[in-house]
Amino acid sequence: DRIVSASSQGDEAALDRAVRPKRLADYVGQTAVKTQMEIFIQAARNRHEALDHVLIFGPPGLGKTTLANIVANELGVNLRQTSGPVIERAGDLAALLTNLQANDVLFVDEIHRLSPQVEEILYPAMEDFQLDIMIGEGPGARSIKLDLPPFTLIGATTRAGLLTSPLRDRFGIVQRLEFYDQAELQRIVTRSASLLGVPADSAGAGRIAQRSRGTPRIANRLLRRVRDYAEVRAGGRITDEVAQAALDMLDVDPLGFDLMDRKLLLTIIEKFDGGPVGVESLSAALGEERGTIEDVIEPYLIQQGFIMRTARGRMATRLAYQHFGLKLPERPGT
Ligand code: ADP
Repeated sequence: DRIVSASSQGDEAALDRAVRPKRLADYVGQTAVKTQMEIFIQAARNRHEALDHVLIFGPPGLGKTTLANIVANELGVNLRQTSGPVIERAGDLAALLTNLQANDVLFVDEIHRLSPQVEEILYPAMEDFQLDIMIGEGPGARSIKLDLPPFTLIGATTRAGLLTSPLRDRFGIVQRLEFYDQAELQRIVTRSASLLGVPADSAGAGRIAQRSRGTPRIANRLLRRVRDYAEVRAGGRITDEVAQAALDMLDVDPLGFDLMDRKLLLTIIEKFDGGPVGVESLSAALGEERGTIEDVIEPYLIQQGFIMRTARGRMATRLAYQHFGLKLPERPGT
C-alpha cells in the first residue's frame, strides 16, 4: 500500500464521511463539470425525469464517487452503489435494477470491469428501461422481459479507453475529472481541517496542498497524518514548519511525490537509461501491476511533465533528471 494509507480502515471511513462534500456548491474545483451538471440536474428535476446516464472518468481519489453521491442528493433521489467486479451474474444486476425507484441513481464504480454477459443486459436497461433475462437452463429455459423504472446509471472508471465502445456510447453525459491545482487543494484542506476541528494556518494548509499530488483523497489523508504529528510533537497546531517536518517524515517529497513515484522515475532513469521503456518491462522491474502503473502512478507524473509517453514507451524528461540532481544524458534528436 502507499505510504499515505490510513492508520486504520475505520478511522479513514469515519473521517471520510465527515469531510465528503454533499452539495455541488461544496464540491471544490472542476468548474466546467460543475457548471454542466448543475444545468443538467436542474433540467431533469424540472421535467420530473431521470437524469441521462453519466460516465465519470479520472484517476483514483479525484472525486468520482463524491460527485455521484452529490448528483443523487441534488436530484433528491436514492443512490445505490455497486462496482463492476461485484456484479458477477446477470441476475445480480437484475436484482439491483428491479429494486430501484423511479429516477434513482445506480452508481457502478470500476464499470470497465463488468463481464460481457452483464454488459449485454445493461444495454437495453440503459436504453429502454427494459430487462431481458433468461431464466432456467437447457430446454426449459425461457426469456422474460421486465419493465424497469426510469433510472440514471452513473459509471466511474479510471480511463475512458477501458470501456467497450457500445457501453461508452450509451452514456449521454461524459465528464472527465482533472487533477486539482494548489489553490483548490488548499481550499479542500482548509475545509476538512475546520470540519475535523484541527487548527491549521493557511501556510500549513498550503504546504499540505502542495504535496498532495493534485488529489483530494491524498490531501485529506496527509491532513490526518500531519495532524497526528502536530498533536504529538508540536502542540497541535498545523503551521508551515510543522507540515513540512511531518511530510518529510512521511517521505512525501517537496513535489508531493511518494516512494512509488520516485521509484518509478529512478527505474526509468537508472535501469532503462531514461527510456523509452514499455509498461510491461517497467511493471516487471518495479514488481507493480501494469494497471496500477497506468492508472495510479503515471497520470500525475505525465501531467506534471516528468514522464513522456511515446510510441516506443515511457521516457523520463529533463524535469525528472533535475528532480534527482542528475544530468540529462545527450540524446540524439532531443
Ligand atoms: P474517487 O471516487 O474518484 O476515487 P472520491 O470521490 O472517493 O474519489 O474522493 C476521495 C475523497 O476526496 C472524498 O472522500 C472527498 O472527501 C474528497 N474530495 C474529492 N473531490 C472533492 C472535491 N471536488 N471537493 C472537496 N473534496 C473532494
